[in-house]
Amino acid sequence: MNERTLDLIRDVQDYPQPGVLFKDITPLLGDPDGFAAMVDEIAGLFEADKIVGIEARGFILAAPVAYKARAGFVPVRKKGKLPAETLEESYDLEYGSATIEVHRDAFAPGDRVLIVDDVLATGGTAAATVELVRRAGADVVGVAVLMELAFLEGRARLPGVEVRALLTV
Ligand code: 5GP
Repeated sequence: MNERTLDLIRDVQDYPQPGVLFKDITPLLGDPDGFAAMVDEIAGLFEADKIVGIEARGFILAAPVAYKARAGFVPVRKKGKLPAETLEESYDLEYGSATIEVHRDAFAPGDRVLIVDDVLATGGTAAATVELVRRAGADVVGVAVLMELAFLEGRARLPGVEVRALLTV
């Protein structure tokens, strides 16, 4: 991604709590060329049968990536949101803790799965999602994010997983 794209991601100080500098991707999502470039680039990174999107901003990227790649889309959601039988994982966040779920039957055995999210921060969300996908019987081919906050060392929580970021700060 180019410098202009980076300029479309806005820093919001003290969100969602004091001391946190939040990367707001909504100006980029609202830019026709920026949004298309982001989706095209992520869709070209990996070969996959299914694209997992992590609620909620991950859905915005993962769904068009799945469409473009002619792959299936699988939502990973916060606990209590999926209607059928689920697998769940709990993990620590940069701010707080969370439990996420996926439908137990979301994957065929051996499906090649790409996990997509907007931002890789501490890596807790992505690591829990990798665990869920593997427990559901599929293979994780990689994790793709729009932006990696490298100073939080999220990759360290994803040993053996190929992580690609379009932008790194
Ligand atoms: P992690 O689990 O890697 O610490 O946090 C990543 C998750 O929190 C992602 O689902 C991402 O959407 C959200 N997140 C954490 N920090 C930021 C941020 O600065 N900007 C955005 N857009 N999302 C963030």
